[in-house]
Amino acid sequence: MTTTTQEYELSTAVRSFIIGGPKKLLIDGQWVEAAAGAVYATHDPATGGKLTDVARGTAEDVDRAVAAARRAFDEGPWGRLTPSERGRLVWRIGDRLLERAEDFAQLEALDNGKSAGVAQAVDVAWSADIFHYYAGWATKVEGRTIPVSVPWVPGAEWHAYTLREPVGVCAQIIPWNFPLLMAAFKVAPALATGNTVILKPAEQTPLTALLLGEIIQELDIPPGVFNIVTGFGEAGAALAAHDHVDKVAFTGSTEIGKKIVDAARGNLKKVSLELGGKSPNIVFADADLDAAVAGSANAWLFNHGQCCVAGTRLFVEDSIFDEFTQAVADFAAQAKLGPGLDPTAQVGPLIDQEQVDRVTGYLRQGLADGARALTGGGRHGDTGFYVQPTVLVDVKPKFSVVREEIFGPVVVAQPFSAGNGVIPQANDTDFGLAAGVWTRDISKAHRIARRLKAGTVWVNTYNAFDTALPFGGYKQSGWGRELGEGAIDLYTQVKAVNVQL
Ligand code: NAP
Ligand code: MG
Repeated sequence: MTTTTQEYELSTAVRSFIIGGPKKLLIDGQWVEAAAGAVYATHDPATGGKLTDVARGTAEDVDRAVAAARRAFDEGPWGRLTPSERGRLVWRIGDRLLERAEDFAQLEALDNGKSAGVAQAVDVAWSADIFHYYAGWATKVEGRTIPVSVPWVPGAEWHAYTLREPVGVCAQIIPWNFPLLMAAFKVAPALATGNTVILKPAEQTPLTALLLGEIIQELDIPPGVFNIVTGFGEAGAALAAHDHVDKVAFTGSTEIGKKIVDAARGNLKKVSLELGGKSPNIVFADADLDAAVAGSANAWLFNHGQCCVAGTRLFVEDSIFDEFTQAVADFAAQAKLGPGLDPTAQVGPLIDQEQVDRVTGYLRQGLADGARALTGGGRHGDTGFYVQPTVLVDVKPKFSVVREEIFGPVVVAQPFSAGNGVIPQANDTDFGLAAGVWTRDISKAHRIARRLKAGTVWVNTYNAFDTALPFGGYKQSGWGRELGEGAIDLYTQVKAVNVQL
């Protein structure tokens, strides 16, 4: 059963935000049209209907935004604020997010299709937590004193220390699956450490980034410190290639991640990447099976499968394979599909028709290769961009449904035998973002956690993130670690100072 978006109440602020379109770019503290005057429409994935027009920024707008960010970094008052002043401003962003939580959640539900309830409890609450967390870091970014010898200058005395300084102008290019949250992952540590930012939201989901721009505009953050260029991949490409950008941080597909690396060559700007995944989720027969069924379904169903960490390769010990995969299929089959503004809906629409075509294309190919669907297998309904939650069995390691990131509500389940071990199968992927292990045997859990080639391993849980924990990928899942202290490394650089006394 599906319901439609029109049936739900929106807050006055969200209504006027949308009616107030076309939305503009934020450059140098001003809301401005794209230089070419172009706009494009952003849509509600639950209906396919247009929400509002948004400025289509191009290379010319990127030039303007980079110039503003450059000036704000090189000459502006931003760098002269004390760490405590900067920290207080970043903290206020977190406060404002919480004060406007309902507006952000509704807007995210409209633009992305995700549940407004989940958006408020997870995306908005966590985004606020990230700003609060990095606000605390602003006063704790320290250098060290290092005792040095310099043996070729006998008898001299030295005072050596390091300074940890911001990288400079940061381009931050983000995807559509967690629009506000991905902005928070990047903007909060960058601002807290004294950088300036140009944010490029995904073309499909610019709205919560623009509302974030509005709340940042209300604070005493100097012009040019935080800029937003909405638009298509061309704007992202111009940022990644720009000679006056010091760092590019990207979250999205591995394919575009490689293009970012190529584009960054010109001035060898710093690059951090958070890319795709095809994460293994391993269930042993000795696990708490009720918890494992719900957790293993959540691992690939959360956000309708549009998660880089989705546990989309389910490995189940052979003695419980049939019973367990059927239970996961039953769990998924009962999920109600509907728009993000329907509080009873559990699985929402995919982001757009392109993703529906992509995901159903993978399903057709998998079934043609010989996979069998325990549930699902195709599109759901004909309004909005829904795909049936799908559990595939009888798959072989070479199938595209096993090897490639599908980014929809699809899991492939494969049996393993305790005797042969599951690690070679689990690690047989180009990706290495996350992994799950379900067992009551503590030693086994820790041994497996060590051997999995993944940036995050969850034991007896899945999708259990925290702002303090580093997040990023092994292998082709990325470069660098976001969140925790990892992001401080991404947004600062170290200077060594050595003084002969
Ligand atoms: P994408 O193309 O990688 O887009 C991510 C961001 O990069 C967007 O802001 C995009 O702008 C921008 N971009 C596109 N081309 C660029 C270029 N040449 N240089 C710089 N930036 C560029 O992801 P997508 O097209 O939205 O989704 C495609 C697939 O990527 C999905 O099916 C999924 O498999 C994967 N994906 C992974 C993640 C993740 O978190 N790991 C997130 C989203 C998607 P536009 O929005 O204008 O294209
Ligand atoms: Mg794209």
